[in-house]
Amino acid sequence: MPLEFAEVILPIPIEKAFTYSIPHDLASMVNIGHRVIVPFGRRKFLTGVVRSFATKAPEGFEIKEIATVLDNHPIVRYPQMNLWEWVADYYMCSIGEVYKAALPSGLKIESETFIEANPDYEFDELGIDDERECLIYQLLNHEGHLTIDEIENKSGLKRVAQTINSMLEKGIVIISEKIIERYRAIKESYVRPLFTHDEINQAFTIVKSARKQETLLMALIELSGINRRSETPKDVKKDALLERAGVTAPILNAIVKKGLVEIYKKEINRFKFDGAPTGQLPVLTEEQRRALDEITSSWQDKQTVLLHGITSSGKTEIYSHLIDVTLKKGDQVLYLVPEIALTTQLTQRLQKIFGNNVVVYHSKFSDNERVDIWKSMLENNKPMVILGARSSLFLPFSKLGLVIVDEEHEPSYKQADPAPRYNARDVALVLASMHGAKALLGTATPSIETYYKALNGKFGLVKLMNRYGNLPLPPVKIVDMAKASKKRETNGALSINTIKSINIATEAGKQVILFRNRRGYAPLARCKQCAWIPKCKNCDVSLTYHNYSRQLVCHYCGATYPLPDLCPQCGLPSVEVLGYGTERIENEIESIFPTRKVIRMDLDTTRNKDGYERLIDEFSQKKADILVGTQMVTKGLNFKDVQVVAILNADELIHIPEFKASERAFNMFEQVSGRAGRADSDNSEVIVQTWTPDHPIFNHLINHDYEGFYQSQILERKQFAYPPFTHIIYIYLKHRDSRVLQTFSNTYANRLRQLLGTRVSGPDQPKVARVKSLYIQKIMVKIEANASIKKLRELLRNVYKEMAADPAMKTSTVYYDVDP
Ligand code: ADP
Ligand code: ZN
Ligand code: ZN
Repeated sequence: MPLEFAEVILPIPIEKAFTYSIPHDLASMVNIGHRVIVPFGRRKFLTGVVRSFATKAPEGFEIKEIATVLDNHPIVRYPQMNLWEWVADYYMCSIGEVYKAALPSGLKIESETFIEANPDYEFDELGIDDERECLIYQLLNHEGHLTIDEIENKSGLKRVAQTINSMLEKGIVIISEKIIERYRAIKESYVRPLFTHDEINQAFTIVKSARKQETLLMALIELSGINRRSETPKDVKKDALLERAGVTAPILNAIVKKGLVEIYKKEINRFKFDGAPTGQLPVLTEEQRRALDEITSSWQDKQTVLLHGITSSGKTEIYSHLIDVTLKKGDQVLYLVPEIALTTQLTQRLQKIFGNNVVVYHSKFSDNERVDIWKSMLENNKPMVILGARSSLFLPFSKLGLVIVDEEHEPSYKQADPAPRYNARDVALVLASMHGAKALLGTATPSIETYYKALNGKFGLVKLMNRYGNLPLPPVKIVDMAKASKKRETNGALSINTIKSINIATEAGKQVILFRNRRGYAPLARCKQCAWIPKCKNCDVSLTYHNYSRQLVCHYCGATYPLPDLCPQCGLPSVEVLGYGTERIENEIESIFPTRKVIRMDLDTTRNKDGYERLIDEFSQKKADILVGTQMVTKGLNFKDVQVVAILNADELIHIPEFKASERAFNMFEQVSGRAGRADSDNSEVIVQTWTPDHPIFNHLINHDYEGFYQSQILERKQFAYPPFTHIIYIYLKHRDSRVLQTFSNTYANRLRQLLGTRVSGPDQPKVARVKSLYIQKIMVKIEANASIKKLRELLRNVYKEMAADPAMKTSTVYYDVDP
């Protein structure tokens, strides 16, 4: 029986299979895991992946044909599609949404994908023989960037998708990215002179009549050193040459044609490690050795082990040993970190040992680079370590032997938006089990759920309770800001005591980290006279003032507004900004310590790809004394000379009405304190400024008492029926009209209540009740941990279908957040 139909995964949020018929001439090429281009909707096409075959088409639909097959080999490999299916099912989204998140855009172009000519492609030099390609290339050169639809319209060509794909492959065009600035080219062009010192005169005769070519030749002779007989001539960077000569590329091409020089490309991969790797593993201390042995033996009967090791105990050293064993077995390793910032230091540490077997992957790479990594993984099965943020879960691994999830407690492992709203730690465990790989979760402050599982034997548990070199954890000093401010012992955001400590540390040539979880200059603006507060037009939030751009910014939708000179409500010139964000703290510190160098690390200073790296390098190399930053500075960074770490406003983190607030605050404080005293500890200290010094969390923090903190939390979780004693699913409903939304979400919740009773609560407004012009309501479903979550999902899906009868459903957005 011929396979006449294929089910195709398409990158759209609809939970159903899309069936296409297979035209005869493509029959032999359509295979599971191959990409196909299919028509979708009116005049649109999408790139999909073949999921399965069918011999019968579903009835009642018009079945369209697959237009093209893009691959000779599957672009995904077992068990990737199973993982997609698992994620879609568990996190309650469509498999298409998972596919969309998993594949870089360059592998799944659609009608709306923007394409541009590759600025590094030498058209003249390499030539394009295909006429269609030539036409498209010229069109793009002329127009900048175009969508594939636009290319079809403007060129009059039909079905250009396949042509574009082949051009992408050859590097003639690239995917345009509106986001961050594009990462610099992977290849750079060099010019190599083909004449010697003795042939200089001859070279000039060859170009004799052309003025500009002469100028170019002169620049080349000088830059390459041909004029200096004693030197071996160097090849010259093309850009540098053109700039020096002040001429354009066609001039250069002219002298290429005359045979005076040749152009070639050199790969410059910043992540390539030059120099030979040492292959040398760190020598473990006795305690680390014991932990390593315990991990290995625990794996004999448990797939997952939790390594609970305090900050700076040497978890990373233990990972290196485990990685080494795995690579030697010929398997691959996935090493997940919660924050891109962390890859920088780790890459260096790992490459020293494993050289180019270390591959880094995360979302700050350009799409074109991500495609490269994807393809190279498909092409070879060599043992390697993928070091990456959560999206690296979706790479085409051939055989994983080990998955490490470092800082497993980190909230940033959870993707908030868009779907799939997955927790990368949990998906990593599923991925490991699909590959039959071992998994290691590492942290100084396990999440409550993970620790619970470890104590109950679901995970193995290994402890590492001493810092390397037996350094003590730094003492924690709680500063009562209410008292300090009454005694006038503060200077804006900083208490006098904090300032003193900063002074002592920096005098001694040591470094300081200041942590404040708000970016911008001032978190609030307000009229002194009438209390008017500027708010975002699209969102229900007040605006943050950024001094650098002199604007009010909405941190939810990015909208910007000028800071009004006159209050629009009372007309008086009395609008002031209040509070302290990182930008203002940086200013403040600079004015208190004018001779100290301060750097700031937050979203605003790390937008481009090299942002983190540069700042971290600067601080590591002690080019700065004080680092001010948001969350980013709290994570596992390793600086040797930090003596003081100060948490400037602990209160905002503790007093959040959310069941995980205490857990997050404690973990964050403990992690920040872990940045201090990592090499010598004599005077190191952690300062916590707070207005509520009696909060119980501080007692645990002073004693670095994770165990005690866990015990208090797990009691609370049990008492109020929160995870791990229950599973939670939030249902979000959004609509432009607040009244329609109110009625609709009530109906929705009531229907759920009929079926699930008191397990349903809400609808409630979340803290920010309107974002990007949409009002939001949230329904919470809480189910006993031992109940079937599978049945619950089924029930929720049925209710969703039922609700389709309500006209409000058509204009609403409804989605789930599982394990929020
Ligand atoms: P963690 O990952 O637990 O925070 P690290 O692995 O970063 O700890 O170790 C903290 C510091 O101690 C690092 O500077 C590391 O180089 C050093 N260190 C830890 N173990 C060893 C070891 N066995 N030999 C040499 N240095 C070590
Ligand atoms: Zn006013
Ligand atoms: Zn907004």
